[in-house]
Amino acid sequence: MEGEFRKQTKVDDILCIWEEFGCLVGKYNIPSLGEGAPHFQPPKFLVDSLVKAIEEGHNQYTSSYGHPEARELLAELYSPSFGKEINPEREILISNGANGCMTAVLGSLIHSKSDEIILIEPFFPQYFSQSQFAGATIKTVPLIPSDDNQWHLDLDALKETLNENTKCIIMNTPHNPTGKVFTKEELQEISDILEEYPHVYVINDDVYYFLTFEGHEHHIFATLGDNWKKTITIFSGGKILCCTGWKVGWAIAPADILRQAVVFNDCTVYCNNVPGQLAVARSLKVAKQEEYKDGLTFIEYEGEDFKRSYDIIFKGLEESSLPIKPIKASGGYFICADVSELRDIVPEKYFKQQEYEDDPDTTIEKNDFGLPVPLDLAVCRWLAMEKKVVTMPGTFFYMKGSKHMTDKYIRLAFCRGEEITKAAMENLK
Ligand code: PMP
Repeated sequence: MEGEFRKQTKVDDILCIWEEFGCLVGKYNIPSLGEGAPHFQPPKFLVDSLVKAIEEGHNQYTSSYGHPEARELLAELYSPSFGKEINPEREILISNGANGCMTAVLGSLIHSKSDEIILIEPFFPQYFSQSQFAGATIKTVPLIPSDDNQWHLDLDALKETLNENTKCIIMNTPHNPTGKVFTKEELQEISDILEEYPHVYVINDDVYYFLTFEGHEHHIFATLGDNWKKTITIFSGGKILCCTGWKVGWAIAPADILRQAVVFNDCTVYCNNVPGQLAVARSLKVAKQEEYKDGLTFIEYEGEDFKRSYDIIFKGLEESSLPIKPIKASGGYFICADVSELRDIVPEKYFKQQEYEDDPDTTIEKNDFGLPVPLDLAVCRWLAMEKKVVTMPGTFFYMKGSKHMTDKYIRLAFCRGEEITKAAMENLK
């Protein structure tokens, strides 16, 4: 009976992949470059700000748009980046993290199965689930590594995929899982292609916008030409201030587009946690402008920390005796690596059977991608069990059955701190 219920689910059951590797970390005490949770605790000024907001009495419901003071502060902070005065009353929605904003936006935009969403593959898996929940038809366009060892969007595929039923495209820069930062020229090229489809909304997930390196700059798609009128840009306080568990995110968009998302938010969660909204909004300026440590602001300090770990991973993989080839990232939390050459090195059992642990009595629940096990999943299981490093399989970032699907990449996180990163790379030598 239980199986019958599972078959009826509206959304693919993908929880298990996180659970499998998360459980391996706990059970075997393995350094993890799998999860995207930063190793930092939130800065003290943020925690103090939360306590202050609670003590000031900001403990009851607020507007479905978000707390008015928090919206004022966000509007003040983001107006210069958007090159326009953002109206705090009607152009900002604060919800349950970036995910909460995305759910509200998709829930409001998608009306029927004939509405198509374009995802850029590989993609942050929740876009897929959220699109399924919204009831859309999902199409994908691939990012492909080129000769420069960087990821590039297949623009021809984008042109072929767009049509009169396309409702929206979800973009993400810096990108999860690849760490790609779209250049201004690349965004302009996409923008030019989209000009021919003026009915298409653009959702930009810019949760990692503050984390770019090696001279790469983040550009807001909404600021190119007149893209503002069709673009929803999403940010995450959890990512900026290392408090991912607080779940405070915001969407910035024209009032008419945002209105329905706010209605959706109102119908589902009504409003997002109020002291968290205020603490995050009040702390952003401090994080950006005031010295935190070693002459750096919190955001600069965080960026340098992540960059150090990125360098350790990149160099570590290049020098490793294992043929795992890192593909350049320019920001965000993650880097991907090509593991195709491990096909002949990983023992057969990781491909031939679902079960790979030796103690049948306490085995953890495994994700079932069918047999033979895809290369990336076999590699990640082998790396965890035999090399003692947890990473994430790339297959999980593609749509099942997608023509662009490949099992040759794994994802490694560089937000885990130098200590864990060094321990992990030592194990991969
Ligand atoms: N977008 C991307 C690309 C992410 O990687 C994540 C978290 N891993 C989110 C959104 C979710 O952000 P939040 O925690 O604010 O909901």
